[in-house]
Amino acid sequence: MSSSGTHQQGTAAGGRGASSGSIRCQRCREVCKGEVVRVQDTHFHVKCFTCTVCNCDLARSGFFQKRGEYVCTADYQRLYGTRCDRCDGFITGEVVSALGRTYHPRCFVCSLCRKPFPIGDRVTFSGKDCVCQQCSHTLVKPNEPIRIHGPSRKSHL
Ligand SMILES: [Zn+2]
Ligand SMILES: [Zn+2]
Ligand SMILES: [Zn+2]
Ligand SMILES: [Zn+2]
Repeated sequence: MSSSGTHQQGTAAGGRGASSGSIRCQRCREVCKGEVVRVQDTHFHVKCFTCTVCNCDLARSGFFQKRGEYVCTADYQRLYGTRCDRCDGFITGEVVSALGRTYHPRCFVCSLCRKPFPIGDRVTFSGKDCVCQQCSHTLVKPNEPIRIHGPSRKSHL
């Protein structure tokens, strides 16, 4: 008693036998045999386990699963990843966010002294970059439009 023999693709590349519990490849729907990649309850042929976007070999490159799609790490980051506002690289692991931007912890440093901000310390946004408390005192560049305090523009001419 064979259960299902109604597939139009009749490439019988393999032997007989293996009657019970045939596993089908999630991608091509063919029966999986030989080397199989298993992800939770899903099985793939090794050759079928490729990135949905770029078709690279996921078994080798590592992968992410998103809405049932399997994509490689690079594509996942490109599509869904978080970018560091400083180095423009993708952030995996810890993320520091400030002012609606995201940074690598190592990239979230004072733009002047390049030291990391102390945790819990205040950060001054100069309009373009973040500077630490120490350096904020040195921000006296005349073209830096951060001095909103002091409405002393009445007698200017
Ligand atoms: Zn397959
Ligand atoms: Zn890819
Ligand atoms: Zn970075
Ligand atoms: Zn600094």
